[in-house]
Amino acid sequence: MTTFTIDMPTVLLFLFFGNLVTAGLLAIYSNDSVSYRTYHHFLTGKLLQSIAWILLAMRGQIPDVISAHVGNSLLLAGIAFEALAIISVEKHKKKWGAYYAIIVVVFIVIFWGFARQPNQYVYISSVFAATIFLTVAILVLQDVKKTALRYTLSVIYTVSSLILLVRGTNAFLHSDYKLMTNEFSQNLTFLSTYFLMIINGSGFLLLLREHTDELLKVANQELEQLAHIDSLTNLANRRKFREHLTYSILESRRRTEPLTLIMADIDFFKKYNDYYGHIFGDKCLVQVAEELQQQCQRGTDLIARFGGEEFAIVLINTDITKACLLAEAIHKRIRDLAIPHADSDVSDCVTLSMGIFSATPTSSEHDYDWFIIEADRRLYDAKHAGRNQSIFS
Ligand code: GH3
Ligand code: MG
Ligand code: MG
Repeated sequence: MTTFTIDMPTVLLFLFFGNLVTAGLLAIYSNDSVSYRTYHHFLTGKLLQSIAWILLAMRGQIPDVISAHVGNSLLLAGIAFEALAIISVEKHKKKWGAYYAIIVVVFIVIFWGFARQPNQYVYISSVFAATIFLTVAILVLQDVKKTALRYTLSVIYTVSSLILLVRGTNAFLHSDYKLMTNEFSQNLTFLSTYFLMIINGSGFLLLLREHTDELLKVANQELEQLAHIDSLTNLANRRKFREHLTYSILESRRRTEPLTLIMADIDFFKKYNDYYGHIFGDKCLVQVAEELQQQCQRGTDLIARFGGEEFAIVLINTDITKACLLAEAIHKRIRDLAIPHADSDVSDCVTLSMGIFSATPTSSEHDYDWFIIEADRRLYDAKHAGRNQSIFS
């Protein structure tokens, strides 16, 4: 039966090359475009670890103080940088940066101050590395969306941490234990460290990718929203209005329900602008828009800025009686707002004229244009009948 043995110096060399190549690739890429802080932390971590592994691999050929003391210090600092990068993909964890710095300093003090025997080198560094791995296992699942990728990384870090602790315990119990001892938990540690190096490289990049995907999704949703919103009044814009009215007509036809379209237009608004200026004109538009929004509270109601000082209100499943009641309420609210309009021919304050059209669409001729023309005609009648009123027939 063959026993499971690995050649330790070879594994250490692989760890050196692996980390070095990853650091090199990241450096080439980051020169081009990436400026995330977390990315640079990861790169620094990889670089420190690659130097550490070559120093550790040269155990016996260079003084112990360089191989063990400098090597392990660099290794732990590298692991800390890498850990900080992984837990900071979504949001930089400044506090944890400080904690890791403390852990590394404490490690250096203990290692340089107390470690004399090779087995002490092993268990001190194992325990500290395991501690950092455990924090990653926990923190990678905090404050953020817990994705399958994050759970997987958490499990991998937990397992690696446990293997390190077993190795540390073995080294603690056996005074002849050292870096190159060919023993099961030692072999397992270096193999898991090797796999962890590969896995966390791609894991980190996938976490970044997952994060940018999420940012893109949110940005797209915002853009989609913005494409439907009037920037001055925050009401739906003409585009959204067209989509909504077209959909509402089809829905009302399918359900044989009445649909109402109200076209509302501010009276003598050109004069308002000429008298008070455009800035106050804009403020007046915002106030009127807010008032309309207040009055139409049903989730299915849609209030849009149709153009300049003209608003459109779409009311699903609303007949002419209910629509007229709403129009009355709007006239009253605008009157109560009492926005002064010294140059209006019909009042001292800003007023609205409205054209109300209600119908149950029954054929394809009852389309978007039909509703607009009919509501517009009634608005025109309201203007000609003296303004500050609603016409519905
Ligand atoms: P009527 O009572 O017949 O509706 O008269 P009116 O002056 O309100 O209508 P008209 O169509 O002649 O003028 C509309 C004015 O609305 C012209 C323009 O100065 C103003 N207006 C359109 N869009 C905006 C805007 O975004 N901000 C401001 N401040 N004014 C606007
Ligand atoms: Mg007007
Ligand atoms: Mg107008």
